[in-house]
Amino acid sequence: MKPSYLYVLVHPSDPDLYKIGQTTRHPEQRLAAHNSNYEEYTGKIVKETGQKWELKTYIAVPDPYWAETVFWGATPFADIPFRQGIEVEKMEWEWVQAGLEAVKKAGVRPPPKPLPDYVYAYTAWMNKRLEGRDITLIGSVKSMVSGKATFRCGKGHEWRTRSAYVAEGEGCPQCGIGNREPEEIWQAAKLGYLVLLIHPDKPGFIKIGLTYNTLKQCYEGNVWEDWEVHRYRFVEEPVLAETLIWELLGQPLPNDREPIKIDLSLAEQAFRDLIPQLHHEIALVEKKKEDVLKTH
Ligand SMILES: [Zn+2]
Repeated sequence: MKPSYLYVLVHPSDPDLYKIGQTTRHPEQRLAAHNSNYEEYTGKIVKETGQKWELKTYIAVPDPYWAETVFWGATPFADIPFRQGIEVEKMEWEWVQAGLEAVKKAGVRPPPKPLPDYVYAYTAWMNKRLEGRDITLIGSVKSMVSGKATFRCGKGHEWRTRSAYVAEGEGCPQCGIGNREPEEIWQAAKLGYLVLLIHPDKPGFIKIGLTYNTLKQCYEGNVWEDWEVHRYRFVEEPVLAETLIWELLGQPLPNDREPIKIDLSLAEQAFRDLIPQLHHEIALVEKKKEDVLKTH
């Protein structure tokens, strides 16, 4: 393996100014480049002050990009994406030391952790909601409620926003591509509710209802007549959800969805288990798709 280095440069104009870099060449060569390339940020400082960067220290590292990540992770300046490629930072020497100590212990990066099932599920659900909207999801969706994700429209605009906004119909903020009414998305993506119904006159019996309408519409349409909604789950994959709930109940789907006799607490437990189980099933399917892509 080619040797790599993490190096620390200091500038005489300011004792707290450090340039941290990584290189597969010798750090002395990088130093010369930093002092002569006036297009780069480090070079601009040389030009402005008439003073050159000096090599403070460097260490050999097996995995330079990982070393850089570990270094900044050990400092209060961790968020490299917002550093905009300028790894010049005003900080105290003790932070530089903390970073270097962490790098010495770090070795090579750990293998990537498999994504949790819910990330696969949220990502698949987002892609379903983006169908026909000329918007591409970049990466994955880690939270459906408050988390952010990155999107790109057919014209190449890229933006980062709460995934929920785009999921509910918000299009490209620059050109408006992919704007939809929430109802259109609801219908196109075939979203629905799975409900656990109980009846005041029929203790010990339950019904499972599935609807592609909102619960409000169901109440107004009196879809479930005298049956009361005891629990409900919003489901992005209603058909799969219905299959799973019957598996969790340990019973076959009854003809005409007639009531079944079951202990209510077991049915409640099945509803608690439904969403994690749904995530798990979707993750299995998505992982298979990934494997197919990898092998072709
Ligand atoms: Zn756009």
